[in-house]
Amino acid sequence: MSSQQLETNGLVFEEKPLHVPPLTELQSVIQGALGQNFATVEVSVGACPDLKLPPYGLVESGLGGRPTLLEAGGPPFLRPLVNREKLYNVHEITRKIQGPGKIFAIGAGAGPWPIRNSNCEGIYNLSVSEDDILTNGSYTATVRGDQEECVLEKIPNEEPRCALMMNLFLSQGLPGDVLHIKAKCRTGEKNFIDAIRQGLEEHYGNERIIGLGGLFLVKTGLVHQHVMRDFSKTPITTPEQVKQWLKFYEMPAQLNAVGTLVTKDYGLDLRLQHFHSFSFSNWGGHYHYDTTPDIVEYEAYLNVAERIVRVDKPPHLGDRPSG
Ligand SMILES: [Zn+2]
Repeated sequence: MSSQQLETNGLVFEEKPLHVPPLTELQSVIQGALGQNFATVEVSVGACPDLKLPPYGLVESGLGGRPTLLEAGGPPFLRPLVNREKLYNVHEITRKIQGPGKIFAIGAGAGPWPIRNSNCEGIYNLSVSEDDILTNGSYTATVRGDQEECVLEKIPNEEPRCALMMNLFLSQGLPGDVLHIKAKCRTGEKNFIDAIRQGLEEHYGNERIIGLGGLFLVKTGLVHQHVMRDFSKTPITTPEQVKQWLKFYEMPAQLNAVGTLVTKDYGLDLRLQHFHSFSFSNWGGHYHYDTTPDIVEYEAYLNVAERIVRVDKPPHLGDRPSG
């Protein structure tokens, strides 16, 4: 497998190709995998609906054109103590990766803390036009006040930054076929994304590495999600300290989650799955699992990526339950 390394503005970019099976093949693998974890599963391949419309709320219509996974940074920049220099310009990084034309970027990361004066979650949904105009429909979720309320806020249109880490699915926002997944009533222990990812990993093994990205809606039920509190002033070194530092909520549907999954680490120190969700109320955060298996209902639109680009891989490995 070929790999390229480039360095720009002090950031190292590494790229590797991903295995791209036909969507119809992924359809049957995912149907089988989810069928072991949900009572009702329907996976199909068809034209992507217009994701700009309700109930989706994204800034571009489709997931087609140069589909790419991007991972930058990682939890080692957050712990044991934050590295405040790690602020990535998503506009510049995605332009460099995708080349000319429109860019549509969705996924999970740490929010641009300088605009909130606090650490926060980033829920990314932005596009860059052919002539480099940024349209930002992204959100932050922040833990605020004595009551530790979850506050969801729009990121200003002109703000291009993400802090510390990100996992984005890049495309040109073009229409085209995608995987359409519906799953209802969870009967197994795996969360929605674990069930898909592990099913793909089992089927495709060590040599054929699959990456998917896109959007899933939690249409009914409650979801266990975290929002990072402000940066810790004392070093966070153990998983127990991480858990104490994160603020967990049971967030009600509807939640719209954007992000990526990949079946293997690929020697790039990859985060294997990472989805953050926004809502049309005050809720937003990092998806863990639903807590209402009997009534939960998921609906997803995912596309398969052709390559993974790893940017600014942290120099040392850390535990990874946060972000
Ligand atoms: Zn996260």
